[in-house]
Amino acid sequence: MAVATAAAAMMAIPAQAEENVLNLYSARHYQTDEAMYAEFTKQTGIKINRVDADDAGIIARLKAEGAASPADVVMLVDAARLAVANDQGLFQPIQSAKLDEAIPANLRADKGPQGVTWTGFSTRARVIVYDPLRVKAEDVATYAQLADPKLKGMLCTRTGSHPYNLSLFATVIEQMGDQKGEAWLKGLVDNMARSPKGGDTDQIRGVASGECGVAITNSYYAARLVASSKPEDRAVMEKVRVVFPNQGTTGTHVNIAGAGVAKHAKHKEAAVAFMEYLASPFAQEYFANGNNEFPAAKGMKLDNPALKAIGGDNFKAETVPLGVVAKNMTKVQQMLDRVGYK
Ligand code: FE
Repeated sequence: MAVATAAAAMMAIPAQAEENVLNLYSARHYQTDEAMYAEFTKQTGIKINRVDADDAGIIARLKAEGAASPADVVMLVDAARLAVANDQGLFQPIQSAKLDEAIPANLRADKGPQGVTWTGFSTRARVIVYDPLRVKAEDVATYAQLADPKLKGMLCTRTGSHPYNLSLFATVIEQMGDQKGEAWLKGLVDNMARSPKGGDTDQIRGVASGECGVAITNSYYAARLVASSKPEDRAVMEKVRVVFPNQGTTGTHVNIAGAGVAKHAKHKEAAVAFMEYLASPFAQEYFANGNNEFPAAKGMKLDNPALKAIGGDNFKAETVPLGVVAKNMTKVQQMLDRVGYK
């Protein structure tokens, strides 16, 4: 019934109007995104049809649809997920001087002969949160220190194979080398306060409640609690401190929310135009602020009081290309299995 109705509705659309659409599969959904999409339609006349699902759901759907997929642009959260989608052949490379110019190369997939498959449009930092009553700031200034026996019984994280951690571990190990990197992961396991569980916000709450002395979280979860309308959320943030690690060395690990043009895009020109639009100052502001993130485009800076409150207004970010996440992912997963990181 629903299928028949949809088919009838599609037939009623004149061919020309049907051409002027963009089918977006998105794992990001924030209220402010609506204004961002509306502006694109206003500028180009291209209507956006959106399919919202989580990252795993989008990847599964694209695989099931194959060459018949109507998807033009695919938006996913985290470099590890973009790398997985790319490995499965779900993107096509594109050439865009505008994107080359606007977005730093380390926030995009490695450039191949045909172009670039995925591009980051916002960044988030993977920060350390600690209990100032139990831990000294100088003992949690770097990711490496999280493996120091000083922190035994204090560390809380979500599962090691969650994309947020896989991406962090992939870039840290790229810089430490394999041997030191695996020893570091083992050190994290040895320091656990409890078996990995929950999301990033649960780790922050664990520090505030005293269950954990130190934890790892994406910056926007901390900012969200700071800006929360609930006093109990703000009270959590009053009990903890936030550190942007590796300021004296390689910089804090940053990850991305990003997008790529779908392998079987039927509206490729519109898809590239949309990707370029996402890098424009107007879209960057909405894209970043919608989730308390940082804009990815060069030279863009936003005033976000919640990010300022956690020290995110001026920090040194890692410059390792996020392309290494794809390269190191299997290796990191094997290391996690060997050291028993659940
Ligand atoms: Fe998240």
